[in-house]
Order: sequence, then structure tokens, then C-alpha cells
Amino acid sequence: MAVTGEPSFRESVDLMFNRAVALMDLSPGLEQKIRVCNSTYTVRFGVRLRGKIETFTGYRSVHSEHMEPVKGGIRYAMSVNQDEVEALAALMTYKCALVETPFGGSKGGLCIDPRQWDEHELEQITRRFAYELIKRDLINPAQNVPAPDMGTGEREMAWMADQYARMNTTDINAKACVTGKPPHAGGIQGRVEATGRGVQYALREFFRYPEDKAAAGLGGGIDGKRVIVQGLGNVGYHAAKFLSEEDGAKIVAIIEHDGALTDDKGLNVEDVRQWIVKHGSIKGYAGAAFVEDGAAVLEHDCDILIPAAMEGVIHKGNAARIKAPLIIEAANGPITFGADELLRKKGCVIIPDMYANAGGVTVSYFEWVKNLSHIRFGRMQRRAEEARSRLIVEELERLSSDRGLGWELAPDFKERFLTGSDELALVRSGLDDTMRAAYGAMREVWHGRNDVGDLRVAAYIVAIDRVAKTYRSKGL
Ligand code: NAD
Repeated sequence: MAVTGEPSFRESVDLMFNRAVALMDLSPGLEQKIRVCNSTYTVRFGVRLRGKIETFTGYRSVHSEHMEPVKGGIRYAMSVNQDEVEALAALMTYKCALVETPFGGSKGGLCIDPRQWDEHELEQITRRFAYELIKRDLINPAQNVPAPDMGTGEREMAWMADQYARMNTTDINAKACVTGKPPHAGGIQGRVEATGRGVQYALREFFRYPEDKAAAGLGGGIDGKRVIVQGLGNVGYHAAKFLSEEDGAKIVAIIEHDGALTDDKGLNVEDVRQWIVKHGSIKGYAGAAFVEDGAAVLEHDCDILIPAAMEGVIHKGNAARIKAPLIIEAANGPITFGADELLRKKGCVIIPDMYANAGGVTVSYFEWVKNLSHIRFGRMQRRAEEARSRLIVEELERLSSDRGLGWELAPDFKERFLTGSDELALVRSGLDDTMRAAYGAMREVWHGRNDVGDLRVAAYIVAIDRVAKTYRSKGL
């Protein structure tokens, strides 16, 4: 956790915002309007469990309604509090603007340790929490659309969507009230992997630019890079898996809440994940060295550090000892404002959270659009696309045989060319396009202005400028 004396998470986000607006030409009134959180609803509700009434505290914060619906995950953790939820809601506003998803920013949380309750109990608690939010339009397809975050996933989203449908029986768009649902309950292919996949696409894009790599003192591609990942949950697992299995990165350490595993030759991410799923911990995993003090492993030598667990893990107390030349913030707010400053002075390049983990909200946007259009992506065009490709292949084969040219298309090429895009392929294509476009917008500011020295400020400038434009067009 952050050392005492550092700003809170929300203050940290505001300070980062302030660094950016100082370089912009906004009226003080508009600047303040964008910075503040519009509202935070706190609810305390009771659920009868194990023979007694248990009281839970939950939040739903709306940072900005410059676009509606507002969007943001719901987190289940004991550490959830108003400051954290407001910080995360603010980040959602900027994130949505940066990746051009047409939403305002929101976030929710419930103070709960999900591991303490069994599935049936969690369902009762989730449905009751959802009921409280739905009653106040804090879950609603047109106004406020939650998604998973730490401690929640497809299962919780399915319960919430069902609760909304029960309370709004004639709403034809009911399924669009939350995203991150399982595919059989109105979800979309590729949502579970989306945030980790986005981290992979973000890194691929970064490594396409020699100047950007050089800023971190790195060369080459992702292949062979030594990577440390903190948090092997949804985001960290998918990011580490794709980077190692598809791009040749070496995962030299995995840090979890109860220690870390290290192996200079590279860990098998899938193997470690299966171990955690089975045993609930990385402890006892035989294929690597175990380090009791997981947080200390953040300071180990590596090329890329991926904090993918929680906020405030890189703080003034350890920033000076961090060796990674490149950090990609897969989690929200893993680097405090003070640590950010120390790291920048050391020359470390930070790919900021609002961009790095935007894959989740991007694919959530696709899911929401799918729900509103009531049709799966690719259903109309996939076979037409295949038929057109087949025409070309058949014509080439005819030409070859008629004229005795002896051409033969490689079987692998033929199969790939003749396969139309299904929903997963389209989702990945849309995500890749989004991550590239947003990176382009950030880097234009990063390299195009001599008063902007890092990607975080660039990201804030792009996002705030877009939010300001929306407000101005509303007459504010
Ligand atoms: P998750 O609950 O699936 O996984 C979190 C993992 O981190 C767990 O494996 C947990 O054991 C581990 N962890 C917790 N505390 C730790 C600590 N102190 N040190 C090391 N590991 C620790 O959560 P997630 O959905 O993967 O979210 C992780 C981060 O990514 C959060 O900051 C979240 O806000 C952010 N995020 C998630 C999504 C998404 O789509 N799920 C989207 C954008 C951002």
C-alpha cells in the first residue's frame, strides 16, 4: 500500500488531471466542472444469511454525464470505499473519451470479501444490491451500464441483468443494462479476455514505434522481453498468456496477493493459473521459485512491468527501486502521483491505465451495441464474405488450369482466406483498431508538443479536450 502522507487515490487522479489542464486552455469553470464527481450514491442494505441479517455497504458513483449512459465496473472487495469508487469513476470518464466509446464515467463497489460467501449467498447479495441500484436508474441501459471489475465477473453480471429484466419486464433493451455477461445471457465473444487482449495490443502498438521504444531504452519487439506481472486475475492472466504464447515474451515473475513465483527461463502462465484455480493460491507450485514478499518482486530486473492487480502498489516508498524501463498500467491507478513523478525523472516510460486497460470498456461498448441491435456481429455478412472469397479462389484455380500455369494456392492461405469473420474475429479487429487509434492520438500530443513529456499527460489532454468539446457543444 501507499506510504502515509501520499494523496488518496482520488486526489492522485485529480493531481494528474491538474498536470494536464495546466497545459490546456480551458476556462476555470469548465475545468472544475470536468474534474468533479457529479454524484455518489451510498447504500446500506441487509440480507438474511446463515440465520442472521448481514448489512452490506455499496456505492455507485457517477463522475460525468456529458454522455449517457455512463459506464464503469462494479468491484467486490473489502477495501472498497467512496474515495476509491470516485477515483475509478473519474478514470472511466477519461478512458471512455480516450478510446471514443460514447459514455460518461461511473464506477461501483460493494464492501465484501466474495471468498467468504458461497455461490447462492453471493447471488442473493448481488441481486439485492442490483435491486437498490436499478430502483434509482443506477443500472439502466440508457443511463448507467455497469461491467465487471475486481471480484466480479460474468456470473455477477448475469444475475444483475436478470434482476433488471425481472423489474422491467417490458424493456426490450433490458440486456443492455450491464456488460460482461456470459455469451449465453446476451454477452459477446471476447469480452472476458478483452482487457488483457487490449494490454497486448497496446504493447504491440508501442513496439511499432522506434522512437517510443528508444524513450524506454528498449529495442526490438516483444519477443524475448522479460516481463513481470502482478495479479494473475482476469486482466493479468490474459495479458501474460497472450504476450507469452503469441508474442514470445518471457514471464519471469508472477506476483500474487500471497507471494510471487519467479523463473528466469519464463513461467508457463496457463500452468500457474490452473494451479491457482485448483489451490486458491500460488503457494506450493513446483515449477518455479517462491518468494514470500511478493511486493518486493516488483523491484526485480525486467524489461516490462505489468501491474494488473490494484491501485497504489507503486508508491513513493518503492518507486526509486523499480528497475523496469517500461511499465504498462493494466490495473487502475497502480502508480501513485508521487511515484509517477519519481519514475518519470528516472526515465521510465509509463503506458497509463486510462489507455492500457481500456480494452474492457471497448468490448463492453461492442456488447452494448450488440444488445441494442439484437443481432450478433457477423451474422449477416460472414457467409457473403466467404462466398466472395470463394469466387476469387475458384477463378484463380480456373485460370491456372485453363492456361496450364500450375499455380497452387497454399492450403493454409486458402483456408484462412475462405473463412469469413465471426463475432470473435470482429471484436478483436474492433479492439485492435481502437487501441491503435487511441495510441496514435496520445502519441501525437506526446511527440507533437514540446511541453508534454509523457504518455499520461498526453492521454489526459486528449481525453479532457474531447470531454470539453462535448460540454461546449451542449452550451456550457
Ligand atoms: P481480478 O479480481 O480478476 O484479479 C485481481 C488479481 O490480483 C487476483 O488474482 C488477486 O489475487 C490479485 N491480487 C490482489 N491483491 C494483490 C496484491 N496486493 N498483490 C498481487 N496480487 C494481488 O480483477 P481484474 O478484473 O483482473 O482487475 C484487476 C485490475 O484491473 C483492477 O485495477 C481493475 O480495476 C482493472 N481493470 C479491470 C478490467 C476488467 O475488465 N476486469 C477492466 C479495466 C481495468
